[in-house]
Amino acid sequence: MKKRAIVWFRQDLRLHDNEAIEQAIRLADEIIYVYIFDERVFLGNTKFGFPKTNSIRANFIKESIDDLKQSLNTNGAQLQLFLGKPEEIIFELAKKYKTSWVFCNRERTFEELNVQDKLEKNLWSIGQEIIYSRGKLLYHTQDLPFPIAHVPDSFTTFRKEVEKIVSIREPIPHPINYKPLEIADYQEFDYQLLNLTQNNYSTFKGGESNGILKLKEILLDISKLGRKQFSQIENIGDFFTKLSPWLAQGCISPKLIYKELKDFESEFGSNDITYQLFIKLLWRDYYRLIGKKYEQKIFLNTKIFSNNSKIGNIDFVVFEKWQSGKTGIPIIDAIMSELNQTGYINKKCREIVSSFLIFELEINWQMGAEYFESQLIDYDVCSNWCNWNFIAHHPKEYHLNVFRQAKSIDSEGKYVKLWLENFDNVPIEKIQTPFELSKEEIKKYNINLDKIYLNPMIKINN
Ligand SMILES: Cc1cc2nc3c(=O)[nH]c(=O)nc-3n(C[C@H](O)[C@H](O)[C@H](O)COP(=O)(O)OP(=O)(O)OC[C@H]3O[C@@H](n4cnc5c(N)ncnc54)[C@H](O)[C@@H]3O)c2cc1C
Repeated sequence: MKKRAIVWFRQDLRLHDNEAIEQAIRLADEIIYVYIFDERVFLGNTKFGFPKTNSIRANFIKESIDDLKQSLNTNGAQLQLFLGKPEEIIFELAKKYKTSWVFCNRERTFEELNVQDKLEKNLWSIGQEIIYSRGKLLYHTQDLPFPIAHVPDSFTTFRKEVEKIVSIREPIPHPINYKPLEIADYQEFDYQLLNLTQNNYSTFKGGESNGILKLKEILLDISKLGRKQFSQIENIGDFFTKLSPWLAQGCISPKLIYKELKDFESEFGSNDITYQLFIKLLWRDYYRLIGKKYEQKIFLNTKIFSNNSKIGNIDFVVFEKWQSGKTGIPIIDAIMSELNQTGYINKKCREIVSSFLIFELEINWQMGAEYFESQLIDYDVCSNWCNWNFIAHHPKEYHLNVFRQAKSIDSEGKYVKLWLENFDNVPIEKIQTPFELSKEEIKKYNINLDKIYLNPMIKINN
């Protein structure tokens, strides 16, 4: 009798380096490929009442699913899409098609664990099981020189312990035969169920093919431009790749990025940018491992990283000004405007607005983390919550002077002008501190700024 399996895609929306697919093909004769839009994630709200997944991220995921569907079709396989609870829908499919196993990427964070645990129990009741696979990280847990319980709490220690001695495995290649099971009553998914609204600002297009294309473009840019020019492409802050949305949905595997970096280095030689990109990917691994080590504690005000605790107030009036970019501090409002319109801001900008919310406005950091969870196109549970938790517990390093930061990353005010209205006539030296404009200057330059910029929420010496 033919053995059947279900491959349940989660945040591994790709065919390359996909252990779940590889394992399923090895064990089963016929495979059903499935993705579930979890109704709690796509239609639900966070504890503070923000949409759990805003439409920018939902659109990116839809595009990624369409791309995956197309790639599977090319290989003779269908992708079944559903809206609901994975633990119920997959259980029903497993019963209906009399499968033997469900293959999926193992998740490690609270809500995702709950779902997979419930599904696992349901499957046990019909004599089936889940086979978990890996694929989120550069490193395999079993290759690390320490058990999860002893993952160093300091990134530097972690980096030193893994960087030189642990080798990164090759990505798994695309399979040749996907062993698809033809579903007679296959139905097209109705995307209207997700309440998606089109966003005209987002420049990210989801999907494995677009993620790989983006990586190739970045490597080409690095080979053509030096570090200095590459950093200047986006005008603001240090160099960054904007690969995070594809990494977060698993459209591109970190091991593939690493392999491409190594191939690039063997052709063009290593340089500061390729090394820094590797270190950034290590940060991603590190926070995921911290999430595995501390589980729910990453969401709480526990002292994971330091004893300095800063929980802050729950004040929706103050929070709303930060969230909607109406603080009267140009750099904060510009960053929040970029976030709200595109779902993406770079790391420096994330640090500036989170530091401002926590240390200047004294708002509960979990509100900020939940808002980012809702808005970010690249939302990743561990990266988001650990970064917020880390900043909230490191006032010495992260209580930033917002005006100094603004002058350092946006000295000519180009970023502020790009994201806020009516700054064109403001003299460069006052763009970050318009409250310093005199009445004469306002008149002379015909400045028509919103009142809040002359009376911001805070005025700090800069
Ligand atoms: C408050 C806060 C919240 C954040 N929330 C998220 C999140 O939800 N999802 C997310 O992917 N990153 C998050 N980060 C980390 C970092 O800001 C983003 O990964 C980065 O800005 C993404 O842009 P990029 O792809 O251009 O990054 P690059 O600078 O080009 O880095 C390449 C990749 O390395 C990884 N990376 C780099 N820095 C970090 C870091 N500090 N922590 C974890 N991974 C890192 C990312 O996968 C990134 O795509 C957060 C940082 C802060 C300060």
